[in-house]
Amino acid sequence: MPMLKHLGALLFSTDCVHCAASLLENERFVCLLCSAQIHLLPQQKTEGEMDALFYGKVEVQRAIALFAFVKGGVSQSLIHHLKYKNKAELGFYFGQQLAAALHLLDLDIDAVVPVPMSWGKRRKRGYNQSEKIARGIAQYLQLPLLPNYLRRVKQKESQTRYNKYSRWQNIQVAFELNSKVRQHYKHVLLVDDVITTGATMEHCAAAIVAQGSTKVSMAALAFAPALR
Ligand SMILES: [Zn+2]
Repeated sequence: MPMLKHLGALLFSTDCVHCAASLLENERFVCLLCSAQIHLLPQQKTEGEMDALFYGKVEVQRAIALFAFVKGGVSQSLIHHLKYKNKAELGFYFGQQLAAALHLLDLDIDAVVPVPMSWGKRRKRGYNQSEKIARGIAQYLQLPLLPNYLRRVKQKESQTRYNKYSRWQNIQVAFELNSKVRQHYKHVLLVDDVITTGATMEHCAAAIVAQGSTKVSMAALAFAPALR
């Protein structure tokens, strides 16, 4: 149907976000050649390395990422377009792929929570990229999406005035559970676009775990330990 095809072209990018080649009908965001260069992470690998980020800091059931972040690589183009090139739908699409990996793990998750973005950044970007990924996951797994479960707490002092250690301390007060959320969840999945130091995820998880019996797992599109 030419009408639908035309609509598809409008909804999805027609050029590869990495090499700019024209995409074929069944390709989304990246061409097949670039897609083959994405370093998908096997669960066991991310589990070990990502667990190490949180070990002794906060209890995390499972932490997974879909692919490795490679500087200058296809993965960087994907994240860049998701964050800065208004490609919100890219988050939803790869969120669904992440959900397929999560589905295999059978984690018994009952809600999906995106890492909240600062109000100013959100206003500038027009959307929270983590929420787009979370939306893809929630739809695929048929779970509630809770964009307001966590909220950022206003930071009293500029972070730039702190040294490395106290900056960490300062971030600790940056998230809290939204007091308007009354429903109890047993196991929530925290979602972000990239995990680098794990600090943001850690502090979100700590805010949830501190409130009681809710367990936390984590999922991100990309894992970038080398950028630390
Ligand atoms: Zn390409």
